[in-house]
Amino acid sequence: MKPWYTLFFFLLVGHDFLFCQQLNPDYIYHDNRVNPAFGSAQTLQGKTHIINVFVSDDRKGWSAEDKADMHFKEKEGLGWINWHAKKWGIEGITFSIADLSDKDIKVDKIESTNNLRPKNPLKWVPLVLNLSGVTNIPHFYDSVKEATKADNIVVMIFAKKSSRSYAQPAHSNQKENERFLEGAVVFKNSYYDKETGAATIIHEMLHLFGARDIYPESSMNAELESKMQSVFPNSIMLGTFRDIGSLQIEQLTAWCIGWTNSYYGWYDAFGGKRREGQ
Ligand SMILES: [Zn+2]
Repeated sequence: MKPWYTLFFFLLVGHDFLFCQQLNPDYIYHDNRVNPAFGSAQTLQGKTHIINVFVSDDRKGWSAEDKADMHFKEKEGLGWINWHAKKWGIEGITFSIADLSDKDIKVDKIESTNNLRPKNPLKWVPLVLNLSGVTNIPHFYDSVKEATKADNIVVMIFAKKSSRSYAQPAHSNQKENERFLEGAVVFKNSYYDKETGAATIIHEMLHLFGARDIYPESSMNAELESKMQSVFPNSIMLGTFRDIGSLQIEQLTAWCIGWTNSYYGWYDAFGGKRREGQ
């Protein structure tokens, strides 16, 4: 007779049925726990203040149309988040948005890479804030927090280049830590020169709230990963080259960003538990 929790699984999460069946027993457990949260973006609840920064390394820079286009996609993505929050029974999520400057932040050269982990990634948030005259980032964070009364603060950096976008989430709650004020760099076009859409902006932003990739390259367990892709093919953390309307916030991502504390053992395989300073 299979132990009681296997039965519990069959009953609780229908669409997990097939999935759990094939899992090695180590992954078959369930409990309630929250994902430890770090940095300026804790759980995706309450009010989040978004600081947009436009960066370029060429003479022309961002055109007003291209900036308006990125703003539009960002807002489209935030509407999508609210829609899915309601599906998860999460109320009261709000966003405020402000551009750090109406001028581009100019850098010498924006690196273009398809590598998820570029060799010496720029520390984007300190870089753009310092270039715009912010010398004391913890103080800047406190003043923005005070002014906006936001629960979370994130910096979305839009770089005028074709490259692979990535996030730089915090692994510490030490305000002095250079990644405490969390940010992501979203490139105007993908590495393959495909126009960046709302899905990429939101995918990278969700990383700042603890979401994990569920596509290859991220998980240690290819077997589980392919099963995951078969069970959650429409996850925002799986693919971003699609219209955001066709994507979902599935249960692992919902747990990561603090929308549920229902934890399944196989989540372990997706990056395990984040710990302070990791
Ligand atoms: Zn990702």
